[in-house]
Amino acid sequence: MIALQNCATPEQKTRWLAPLLNAETRSAFGMTEPDVASSDATNIATRMVRDGDHYVINGRKWFITGAAHPRCSFLIVMGVTDAGAERTSRHSCIIVPMDAPGVRLVRRLRWMGCEDHVAPIGELVFENVQVPVENLLGAEGEGFKVAQVRLGPARIHHCMRSIGLCELLIELMMARAAERSAFGRTVIQYDTVQRWIAEARVELEQARLLAYRCAWRLDQAGHHGAWRDVSLIKVAVPAMLQKIADRAMQVFGAMGGSDDTPIHQALAWGRLLRIGDGPDEVHLRQIFRMEPMPDWSIANSPYLAAHPA
Ligand SMILES: Cc1cc2nc3c(=O)[nH]c(=O)nc-3n(C[C@H](O)[C@H](O)[C@H](O)COP(=O)(O)OP(=O)(O)OC[C@H]3O[C@@H](n4cnc5c(N)ncnc54)[C@H](O)[C@@H]3O)c2cc1C
Repeated sequence: MIALQNCATPEQKTRWLAPLLNAETRSAFGMTEPDVASSDATNIATRMVRDGDHYVINGRKWFITGAAHPRCSFLIVMGVTDAGAERTSRHSCIIVPMDAPGVRLVRRLRWMGCEDHVAPIGELVFENVQVPVENLLGAEGEGFKVAQVRLGPARIHHCMRSIGLCELLIELMMARAAERSAFGRTVIQYDTVQRWIAEARVELEQARLLAYRCAWRLDQAGHHGAWRDVSLIKVAVPAMLQKIADRAMQVFGAMGGSDDTPIHQALAWGRLLRIGDGPDEVHLRQIFRMEPMPDWSIANSPYLAAHPA
């Protein structure tokens, strides 16, 4: 929706965005491919060749959230339109109807054994798929721009959902630990458990503030200006979610890994977010690159100047 809201023409908005907003249909975003390391988006290899008033698309995508939903009626697909252009201008994004001849849902994928019932994940093949030129989202060669417009807000949305999930995990830990007794006292009376819950609260409140600041920066400066904040939150929140879910599983004992609680799904979701929408390593590299180098050397550092030997 965000990509359409920001990059679509008025005609495209009427045709594709309005039905989404009215919940009449569903969509998916197709970037990742099985044959290339997709964390580097310049590797994306699906070909989109202009032929008169159409593009002809050939390629394979996988791990496309929502593509296996029966009501998914279109995809935004990223592919190469000009292999000879600058690395970041080779790709474009185009709207591809799911029922276009040559689009094939190969299989439904699960992540860590979990089925995503809300937005089932699909692997897709595109064989000589013809799509009219007017389905191009943004200009030709602006595929990266479209993807980035979508990814900034998508990443913070994931973080906000995760923060809500951690709030639930803390409540679950409190309730369960207060109900169970072992070795003569309730589980909540053990220092270790109290500490896990308190640490979870500390981490959660830090993450919440980081999310607020990131949302504020996105509002103030758009996705370009908020890039660093998005990376900070994208690394911090999934790590926190994994840690809190792991503690919650321990507090629950065997039940924590069963379908009677959402804990194992929270753990899998935290793990997913350390890879999906860009792996941790890519964001950490980005954060490191934005760290300013001081304009002094250690030998003449402000600290040594203030504390002469
Ligand atoms: C459940 C789920 C849902 C998804 N939904 C979608 C979707 O809707 N649409 C979509 O297009 N994609 C989706 N993805 C795909 C996801 O965005 C990609 O998996 C992710 O971008 C990584 O690409 P890759 O799997 O090709 O890993 P690769 O690019 O092969 O990377 C593998 C590993 O290499 C290492 N690595 C990569 N770059 C660096 C670096 N610069 N420095 C150090 N190490 C590095 C990292 O450890 C990384 O995890 C989904 C994935 C999952 C699991």
